[in-house]
Amino acid sequence: MIFELHSSLVGFANASIKNRNDVIEKLELLWTAHREGNHIIFSEIDISEELIGIVGDESRSAKALLIRIINQYPKIAALAYHVERKVLVGDYNPLSMTMKSKVIEYPVGEINSGLLQKSLVLVENLTDADFYHWVATNIYNQTPFESVNLSFEGYPGGGNTTAEAYENLKFKTSRLCLCIVDSDIRAPKLQYGETAAKVEKSDRLRPRAQADFHVIGACSIENLIPFNAFEMAWGDDPNYKQKLIDYKEHHRESHWRYLQLKKNISCFELHGPGAFAVYWRSALANTPSGCADKICSKKAECKHNMLVQLSGSPLGATFSLVKDKFVNLDELVPDIRQAWEKIASELLSWCCAPNMSAAA
Ligand SMILES: [Zn+2]
Repeated sequence: MIFELHSSLVGFANASIKNRNDVIEKLELLWTAHREGNHIIFSEIDISEELIGIVGDESRSAKALLIRIINQYPKIAALAYHVERKVLVGDYNPLSMTMKSKVIEYPVGEINSGLLQKSLVLVENLTDADFYHWVATNIYNQTPFESVNLSFEGYPGGGNTTAEAYENLKFKTSRLCLCIVDSDIRAPKLQYGETAAKVEKSDRLRPRAQADFHVIGACSIENLIPFNAFEMAWGDDPNYKQKLIDYKEHHRESHWRYLQLKKNISCFELHGPGAFAVYWRSALANTPSGCADKICSKKAECKHNMLVQLSGSPLGATFSLVKDKFVNLDELVPDIRQAWEKIASELLSWCCAPNMSAAA
């Protein structure tokens, strides 16, 4: 995350000796956060210059931070203006700590070492965080932001307990937290699944400035896997030959994102007026049905799969094959590519960090 020193810090620090000492102490904490590679500290040049005048030689590390901000300005400014979210550190009222236009106005007095730890990325399973990191790396490859380091700590929410983990992190810690969940939307016109709905409700009822969530633009994380990764994993496996052909039929814009790759679609699910049944009845109209003309009356009785699951663990089977490679983004269907871009943009905002391989 970018922590930007706001101009109100200057007036605040000048108001009393106590304030000045507070500002120095917080600048020292920010310097540590920088040195640990957790967050990027930024300000307009004139603000750092004025703060150097105030800090004087009182604190070596506070001064080192301010000098570094000035020296790094040309490298950091474009990123600071690009990101959708940042923390503004200034003379703010704690009660007004809100998410105005996604900028978190943080009172300087409230800055603490918990807040300055690496951002948490709360996901359903830990591998998801690595996958999203890889997505962001692909999106920013060959862009002005390709050398920006993304630093975060993945936090496993455990699938359907993710919303509880989110509440816990929001209220029991002061960590910055981005929660990323599946939409579980398996057909147009359907609402979020239970996990996304609970996370959304948590923020609607009890928002916190330093936490937010993103619902991916697909039913499930597996829908974001490039199709050729499936071909790499199973192209030579005769058991998958027909499945890959069947699934390729569905690999198109505004459709692929609804397909839950880990679940069968049974004939029973296609009966009736529900949104899922109506949509998939039509989408699978040309698929030979396991049940021919029979209509099962109960889900438990229906063993007739219209579409058999692709795999019980598509991410586990494919991610290791692609994680060291770059993807041709043009091979993603357009709305999946858009979902990638949104995830990348969130990660860049929440997790951008100093590039520690460059001279510190
Ligand atoms: Zn059936």
